[in-house]
Amino acid sequence: MQHARVFTISSGAWPRPVELDATHRPGIRWELIGFTERIVRESPQRVRHAWRSTRQPWPSGKWVISLSPAALPKSGAAVDLPLALAIHLAHRRKTTNLWAMGELHFDGRVLPVPGIPALVSVALAQGAARILLPLASQAEVGDHPKIRYVGTLEEAFAQLDFWEDADVPETVLKRTRALEPRKLPSSAFTIWDSFQENPKLQWAALVAVHGGHHAFFWANPKFPWPNWVAAVQHLYLGRLEAAKAPVRDCPTRLITSIMPSLGSTPGLMDPFTNEVTQANGGILAIGRWLEQDPRIEDRLAAVLERGTALLGRGQDHWAVPARFQLVLASAPCACGPIVSCICSNHQLRAWKQKIRKPFLERLDLGLDEQKSGEFSALSWPQALAQLEQGEKIWTQRFVQSSEERWTNRQVPVHRLLELFHANKETLAWFEKEQATARWMGSRMAQILRVARSLADLQGIATLEIQHMKQAVQLNTAFTT
Ligand SMILES: [Zn+2]
Repeated sequence: MQHARVFTISSGAWPRPVELDATHRPGIRWELIGFTERIVRESPQRVRHAWRSTRQPWPSGKWVISLSPAALPKSGAAVDLPLALAIHLAHRRKTTNLWAMGELHFDGRVLPVPGIPALVSVALAQGAARILLPLASQAEVGDHPKIRYVGTLEEAFAQLDFWEDADVPETVLKRTRALEPRKLPSSAFTIWDSFQENPKLQWAALVAVHGGHHAFFWANPKFPWPNWVAAVQHLYLGRLEAAKAPVRDCPTRLITSIMPSLGSTPGLMDPFTNEVTQANGGILAIGRWLEQDPRIEDRLAAVLERGTALLGRGQDHWAVPARFQLVLASAPCACGPIVSCICSNHQLRAWKQKIRKPFLERLDLGLDEQKSGEFSALSWPQALAQLEQGEKIWTQRFVQSSEERWTNRQVPVHRLLELFHANKETLAWFEKEQATARWMGSRMAQILRVARSLADLQGIATLEIQHMKQAVQLNTAFTT
């Protein structure tokens, strides 16, 4: 008996995984199970027509096709591609953890359908090995080592057959844009160069990447903060390379507004959960933070706390690992000064107090583009070298927990001082500052973490006064 299974998702506000099973049995009629809507029931016809465009013979006989769970609504023509792939796999007696979504035109083209970003989040969360999507969705979803994009059904078959092979035929390579392991984009240099004027931001990017610190950015219209996010991403990839670690997924989600995300849009996944799961293992950057609905703060806080996001609702949900670096940006005041600010002192204070304290404590870096004399500029190769150095010190300190890579961000507060090797002068300075400086108190842990990251990056095992002072500089934007 030939049988294969391909995964896709259901439609609706809360998409769930759907298993599509294709089984070959003696006989002539098709049997469809779980094909509820008319447009879904027509899917086998579209598949048969599209199949003619390929050079593959149609595996004739009786196909029993089942979509389960049967009760879930299936999204229109989106099961065409998974259905064709399931038959192809069953025919070749192959099994693979494959996810797919897409409509088939009768001439063999693979067309995009709504809900593909949702499929990607669910699939990655469920540990998909391979995801096959319409070429037209590439711009929306972006590149990922597990995703291949195809324009036609024939390409889809070829891609499946050669997925693991190094020597994919030239014709397939050319048309399917197989994703190579990421090379550092050459734009890294130019982006990094744009920070030569502001070494504080360079160091902030290094610290964020080395220590896994979440950052808050007082974006000024003059300063393109997405550049800063791009620098962080380049460094992140650079660190993986330096550590000879496999370059895993490092998706960046750059969001300027998530206003409509609290009400679910029919046919789409809750966009917020979607962003969180797609940023998994990478960077989640959200702009206009203080203008967003404050309820998002609570939801994000829960995700940062647990390291997981919950997909689904009520009894029917599953936890998705959601570890990422968070970069928030906001205008420094409510009027968003294009030329000059017209806000009163009271308004300014009220604006900045919009971030609630418990949430603020999860952010270690508080940045503005104000320059600071405490830092000196670095070239791109120097920056990568510093990261490598930091990595070494970090590994030495955490040999015992080397299985899972911790970051300074994750060190429990009670272990901070014990682990951070502050020298006598630093402790004395610390005590003196504690009595007078306003930044002490709740932000002590943040500043210690940042200082530790700075010392790591400079290759110094003990925590010195200069590191504390620099750390304060990278954290001041929360108070001024
Ligand atoms: Zn203003």
